[in-house]
Amino acid sequence: MATFKNIKSLGPLKGKRVLLRADLNVPMKLDDDGNRIVSDDTRILSVTPTIIALCQQGARVIVISHFGRPKGQWNEDMSLEPLGQPLANATKLAVSYINDCIGEEVVDVIDAMEDGAVLLLENVRFYAEEVSNDPDFAKALSENADFFVNDAFSCTHRAHASTVGVAEILPSAAGLALEKELVALENALGNPKHPVAAVVGGAKVSSKLDVLTHLVEKVDHLIIGGGMANTFLAAQGIDVGGSLCEHDLAETALKILDNATKNNCKIHLPIDVVVAREFKANVPCQIININDVAKEDMILDVGPATIKAIEMDLKICKTLIWNGPMGAFEIEPFDKATVSLAKAAGALTAAGSLISVAGGGDTVAALNHAGVAEQFSHISTAGGAFLEWMEGKELPGVKVLLAE
Ligand code: AMP
Repeated sequence: MATFKNIKSLGPLKGKRVLLRADLNVPMKLDDDGNRIVSDDTRILSVTPTIIALCQQGARVIVISHFGRPKGQWNEDMSLEPLGQPLANATKLAVSYINDCIGEEVVDVIDAMEDGAVLLLENVRFYAEEVSNDPDFAKALSENADFFVNDAFSCTHRAHASTVGVAEILPSAAGLALEKELVALENALGNPKHPVAAVVGGAKVSSKLDVLTHLVEKVDHLIIGGGMANTFLAAQGIDVGGSLCEHDLAETALKILDNATKNNCKIHLPIDVVVAREFKANVPCQIININDVAKEDMILDVGPATIKAIEMDLKICKTLIWNGPMGAFEIEPFDKATVSLAKAAGALTAAGSLISVAGGGDTVAALNHAGVAEQFSHISTAGGAFLEWMEGKELPGVKVLLAE
């Protein structure tokens, strides 16, 4: 089992300058006066325990993050300045801000910091050298600190200067949130308790091809739902009518099914579905057998018989990984399969028989909609990084933190 360097491994931190990579790329909106304000503070709250722990040990904490995609241009609309106060509110610590992340002025401000103080740097992506992981830029960033701590799992799939470059120069460690996330992911896919089930739903096979290809070799049950199930059904000769379907991926889908058989992975595809003639809320819809889809029908959710069968198998599973909804869950009543399966997984987790890990933007929204997010063992708010982890890819920002 891979082990990661954590904050404890850095040794005494009193008086030390710690460069802390956070993900402060949070949803924001404009208030009545046109000021940018935070509309969802989940990511701020996630880095808060690490900031507090570092400050309590007397470290000088220098927070670095990106915001949006400024493409190496200075852009006031993507400044991190409005994040200083929310960070102060969350940590109950004074947080100062400087409008740059390298250079003499930054060095002077850091030199004047007191032990236990927090400084927020400006958006690191205002420098094009961040994304290109320019060695000189990474060196300039690292000169501001004695240690580097990464607490932004959602950025670990990017080999940027503030995730990989500095970690290669400074003694580095995973922050508390990243450590928790890595342990949860290791328990779910790295070294899981079997049988393992994976739910892969969402719109298209093409966006999750690598996920499906990797999972059939790792899990015991692969539950395919959402629009992507249609591609698999059509590849098997089933008429999916007017449903979302990537017919050009039929051969790929068959290859994945074949590989599943070779790896003893049981594939769950819908045996019944909910169809409608329009993709709108509360339009007339019906539950039909998968072999009865008419030309004008659109499959918008998985049917109850399918979900019942999946729930039976889930009862004997010990681990569940979930990405993507089972249907068009944003539109009622096509949320039923997602909600029912989410509730079943939540209940099994609460009863202690299942470890459940879910991730990805739409998945978190779907589990919140089902009201079971709290019951899951771990929910990852990372989008790209979570998917790349499900694809079995090595995350460069994690690799640099592995203990030798
Ligand atoms: P993804 O980002 O790939 O996880 O896809 C999530 C999206 O897939 C959601 O917006 C769902 O509404 C959509 N989706 C799920 N099932 C279907 C379906 N059967 N037909 C069309 N869209 C779907």
